Amino acid sequence: ERMTVSSGNGKGVPRRKPPPVQRRETPSSSDQDSFAKRSTESEAEDGEDEDDNNDITKIVQKLPKGVDLASARQILNDIVVRGDEVHWEDIAGLEGAKKALKEAVVYPFLRPDLFSGLREPARGMLLFGPPGTGKTMLARAVATESKSTFFSVSASTLTSKWHGESEKLVRALFGLAKVLAPSIIFVDEIDSLLSARSSGSEHEASRRSKTEFLIQWSDLQRAAAGREQSAREKKEGDASRVLVLAATNMPWDIDEAARRRFVRRQYIPLPEQHVREQQLRTLLSHQHQELNDDDIQVLVQVTDGFSGSDITALAKDAAMGPLRNLGEALLHTPMDQIKPMTFRDFEASLYSIRPSVSSDGLRRYEEWAREFGERG
Ligand code: ADP
Repeated sequence: ERMTVSSGNGKGVPRRKPPPVQRRETPSSSDQDSFAKRSTESEAEDGEDEDDNNDITKIVQKLPKGVDLASARQILNDIVVRGDEVHWEDIAGLEGAKKALKEAVVYPFLRPDLFSGLREPARGMLLFGPPGTGKTMLARAVATESKSTFFSVSASTLTSKWHGESEKLVRALFGLAKVLAPSIIFVDEIDSLLSARSSGSEHEASRRSKTEFLIQWSDLQRAAAGREQSAREKKEGDASRVLVLAATNMPWDIDEAARRRFVRRQYIPLPEQHVREQQLRTLLSHQHQELNDDDIQVLVQVTDGFSGSDITALAKDAAMGPLRNLGEALLHTPMDQIKPMTFRDFEASLYSIRPSVSSDGLRRYEEWAREFGERG
């Protein structure tokens, strides 16, 4: 089973020139830099594989004893995200969440000297809310804007491994994050790792990976609390600049002890009216279309209850309208004779693209947010 890399995941993140591994250039680490540089060129050319391997070997050599090398390699290959960057302005709305993330992560990573003592940032933040509302995008923007290495892993990957393997993977993940610090460890579907169920009799393996995860995370928190790091620990990377960002669509499944460890819990709600308008306008701005302001206002109204990802899906489907009408003629119609998108195309798509969250489902998020979350 292969782990997924969240870049190029077909979720419609705007394409940009592929950047290097998303990390800060730290002066003392020439071999890391060459890894970062190399990774911009990787994947496409097979001839580069050997050099890639050399760079990976150098990084792996810095890892503390007890980190499984095969797991570390797997993470470097599959979990360190390269490719499309996400920037704040790519994300519609969510101003409160952006502000919270800047203050809690981005600024402290860029100016660690300012954020100590009482200003010591939290070591973890939970993003919760309905699916498709921009949690992954936010995490990726944080990595871009804080110039950090971005590790993206879905919790089910960490729990699905056979006996012993998932613990090794968790250890390797945190080990590498320290070596390549500043780092963001983004864990999607965190509920499946930290659920109340996995602490019970359920799966021995997932209980153990949960325990390992919590141990590793505590180590980061201790490092952040200003405890002097030993020479050995320093050699193993900067634990004080590793942060866990986690996302979930099912916050209520996280057990209470784990929930409390996330000092910050940020609600990522469905987009409000003005945010839907902003997103629709952005999506349409790249397209040959002739919707007027009234059309857009109607769309903003009828998409009440849609997530950001539902709106993207709707616009993508509607964009197919002018082509669908052509039938086979599509194969020889010149570009300049393709009709612009119209309101009609959206009307047709609204039959098939429906909101993915029910209003009952939504109420549950709102209640959880009221009880345990921050909004914005
Ligand atoms: P989540 O992690 O909350 O499930 P994602 O961040 O993966 O959702 O979003 C999925 C897709 O939906 C994105 O790639 C993007 O196309 C669209 N999308 C979701 N939220 C937003 C938003 N706030 N602004 C712009 N696009 C969004």
